[in-house]
Amino acid sequence: AKEDKEKQYVYYHDGIHQGFKQEYELENNLRVALANNELFLTYQPKQNVKTGEITGMEALVRWKHPTIGIISPLNFIPIAEKTGLIYQIGEWVLHEACRQTKQWQVEGFQPLVVSVNLSANQFNRKDYLLPLIDRILAETGLDPTYLQLELTESGFQDPVLVKPILEQMKERRLTISIDDFGTGYSSLSYLKQFPIDVVKIDRAFIREICENKGDQQLTKSMIDLGHVLGMKVIAEGVEEIEQIELLRELGCDEVQGFFIAKPLTNEEFIEFLRK
Ligand code: C2E
Ligand code: CA
Ligand code: CA
Ligand code: CA
Repeated sequence: AKEDKEKQYVYYHDGIHQGFKQEYELENNLRVALANNELFLTYQPKQNVKTGEITGMEALVRWKHPTIGIISPLNFIPIAEKTGLIYQIGEWVLHEACRQTKQWQVEGFQPLVVSVNLSANQFNRKDYLLPLIDRILAETGLDPTYLQLELTESGFQDPVLVKPILEQMKERRLTISIDDFGTGYSSLSYLKQFPIDVVKIDRAFIREICENKGDQQLTKSMIDLGHVLGMKVIAEGVEEIEQIELLRELGCDEVQGFFIAKPLTNEEFIEFLRK
């Protein structure tokens, strides 16, 4: 049964050329996918390294193409961003993540925080993102404290535009996480400038953390920096118990990665919570 599950997650990481002859073909297919409900969300749990408690989950989108199979977001989010389809996809993802999270709360599971990835584009439309979030929270009945927004550095391109939006998010008691931290050249200035709650250390630093002293020291610095600024620190891409033990020693708050669980379907996530 385990093998069957893993087979579902065969992605086409090699790029669009594997399944689509042209980019426009992918774009047209993506439009159809939205109309036909071919997108679905998986949820990857986050765990507190001190208590072992599950604190939340990251919503990660997938596309179940009728003939190609399951397609990774790495293969369609960039095209969606280029063609403007990211708005519709982003709206669907936000709505579905909030709806499902509320549903699990109603069913009596411990209340968990769901994090949703946002593209920089979603900040670029005037008077768009906040009204959208307000509408979705009202429609789904999810309390704003259970919604976290993950932004990569590219999301901070235009501080004049982004800062007031983030501040208004904070007023609504939403939380903000800076994703892939450490990979951009100016990450540090963002931390001070924007109201960020969570620093998410990129997998690139975690991968060899047990063997590589430099990565270990950099990770330690990022953890301390986050804490000095009053932020929570989470490490992503944790695949081995040794990495978790080391991260705990370094003072990291939470971990996410294949060692805890791969991104899970709704059913798998519930099964995971029950255990
Ligand atoms: P990300 O936000 O950095 O998400 C983490 C990625 O790392 C996910 O890939 C996840 O499956 C993978 N991962 C998690 N743990 C491990 C591990 O232990 N080892 C390894 N090797 N990988 C791990 P995924 O799901 O393919 O998503 C790729 C990227 O696509 C995400 O990177 C995010 O930038 C983007 N993405 C996914 N869903 C959405 C969405 O709804 N909206 C937007 N705008 N972007 C999304
Ligand atoms: Ca993310
Ligand atoms: Ca990340
Ligand atoms: Ca990453």
